[in-house]
Amino acid sequence: MTTLDDIAKQAAVCTMCKLSERRRNVVFGEGNTSSPLVLIGEGPGDQEDATGRPFVGRSGQLLDRALLDNGLDRNDVYICNTVKCRACDWREGKPYNRAPADEEIRACSTWLEQQLQIIQPKVILCIGSPSANTIIRKGFQITKDRGKLFPCRCAELGIATLHPSYILRQQGAHSDGGYSLLVDDIALAWVTAVAPT
Ligand code: URA
Repeated sequence: MTTLDDIAKQAAVCTMCKLSERRRNVVFGEGNTSSPLVLIGEGPGDQEDATGRPFVGRSGQLLDRALLDNGLDRNDVYICNTVKCRACDWREGKPYNRAPADEEIRACSTWLEQQLQIIQPKVILCIGSPSANTIIRKGFQITKDRGKLFPCRCAELGIATLHPSYILRQQGAHSDGGYSLLVDDIALAWVTAVAPT
């Protein structure tokens, strides 16, 4: 029987797209592999690429806080990304983060699908557009349809929420930048995931 570790080992040497050329680490995913709730982000940033762990930079700290505001922590859920390697453009030897391209998402979907087939979550919380477009439906609009439950690939239900990096950019003296929506969306995802069926 293929295990999550087997797949992680194969993913660690993946060269199916250009992102493999300059990555420091493949960020496969971590957390509770028996959880009914999987959180799927966009892709690793600088800190994640450096450490091999998902959501450990500033966005990750905000996500941790939003989990905590729901009485949860990383051990209650499984966290991974749509693409497992950092997507960035290089100019004058410096990396600039960018959204993953369609062909990179397609190439990486083999890892995500195998991962989800093993974990079999009841609910997937898509963090940001690339994840919602991959898991719920193409053309998904976060601003219009976040916080609602939809049938989805690889789980019974999917729900999408604002990306913490977007929230950090929006936050100001008079706005939480959508942080309370992130907290609410995690609450709905968790309550749905643990509800008896
Ligand atoms: N943003 C993401 O979408 N995923 C991470 O792991 C980190 C930042």
